[in-house]
Amino acid sequence: MGIMKDALASPDAANGAILDGVVRTIPQAEGLTTMIESLGRELDAVLLFDVDTEELVRRLSGRTTCGQCQRPFFGREPGEPCGCTENNGVGVLTRRRDDEPEAVRKRLEVYAAQTEPVIDWYRRNGARIVAINAIGSLDEVEARALAGLGPSR
Ligand SMILES: [Zn+2]
Repeated sequence: MGIMKDALASPDAANGAILDGVVRTIPQAEGLTTMIESLGRELDAVLLFDVDTEELVRRLSGRTTCGQCQRPFFGREPGEPCGCTENNGVGVLTRRRDDEPEAVRKRLEVYAAQTEPVIDWYRRNGARIVAINAIGSLDEVEARALAGLGPSR
């Protein structure tokens, strides 16, 4: 919360900001609301990216990361060389334990128990929820998100 507060108070966020991957619990939503109000700011919208479970498991378990440059990749296998030039190009792709299919299913259970209720919490508190079908390419989903948010203010 402290890191977000500093970021939102910085000149970079004077015209707005998108918080990615937060909040994950109702107490965090309450804390964020209090913090935003303390800055004299407003929450414009809650973006809800809607993807079914099987697609999420496929996406998350399809992610590998280079041990040297830390870049993420999709559709490349653990053990493949990264091809980066960090540390003499010895970077090898690994899959985070968090991204193994079983771990992903566990994360989704935690999501259903702790994070999904946050959507209703925001709904009850009058937030504008913008639900987006997030199946599709990055460009397609981005276009839907921008269209859902409407013209910038
Ligand atoms: Zn690399």
